[in-house]
Amino acid sequence: MGYNVDAAFAMIEPRWWKPEGRGAARCGVCVHGCLISDGKGGMCGARFFSSADGFSSPYLGRFISTAIDPVEKKPLYHWRPGTRIMSLGSVGCNMICAFCQNHSISHPARRPPPGELNGMSPEALAVLTKKNGLSSVAYTYNEPALQGEYIVIAAHVLNDSGIASAIVTNGIFSPAFSGEISRVISAANVDVKTFAKAREQRIAQERAIRAEKVAKMQQATRGDASSAPTGVAPLRTDEETE
Ligand code: SF4
Repeated sequence: MGYNVDAAFAMIEPRWWKPEGRGAARCGVCVHGCLISDGKGGMCGARFFSSADGFSSPYLGRFISTAIDPVEKKPLYHWRPGTRIMSLGSVGCNMICAFCQNHSISHPARRPPPGELNGMSPEALAVLTKKNGLSSVAYTYNEPALQGEYIVIAAHVLNDSGIASAIVTNGIFSPAFSGEISRVISAANVDVKTFAKAREQRIAQERAIRAEKVAKMQQATRGDASSAPTGVAPLRTDEETE
């Protein structure tokens, strides 16, 4: 595939956060709204704060997996069917599911990632995608919301090269984040982990998961995304009603 690490790639500044009193910061990417104190990280294990260095998100633009998949594997069956898609995965997740299929990369603060993360600029991603004869990129394998700043910047660069952006997500976004990300992506698959609301709240460890938010986000995604399905992952549960 020719995965060229972009050694000159500079760190992208994190957004969607604000200082909270002295020595703490509030992250606003997802509904957890983590209050992160000095030297600590959010529950996703991908966003941090220190009084000395400010807010940081060290995995932005850094990927542990790069692969070319059939688009149906995302699964985005009704969006560009029969094509292949450049698929990127990093580390971190804002859910803690006992049945996680990507547990080795989902919580780097609890378990070190099983390999190196390689930085890739949006420009290098566009070149790599074109070089492989592809016209779409998916942020997948881990929760792409944690790549939000990169995705927004990269989407414009990719779009200039005729490359569409897609995400495979759990959809647990803050309204501010959801509004912005939905304007730059062309397709989204939202994995519903369970149909039982109480269970979803428990596994997400969040205050509320609102399915209507997901539907709105899908409706709001640009152009050809309207046919993107809501993904229902075939996950083991112990409730017969699901
Ligand atoms: S992305 Fe969500 S889980 Fe991670 S630090 Fe921000 S609010 Fe917390």
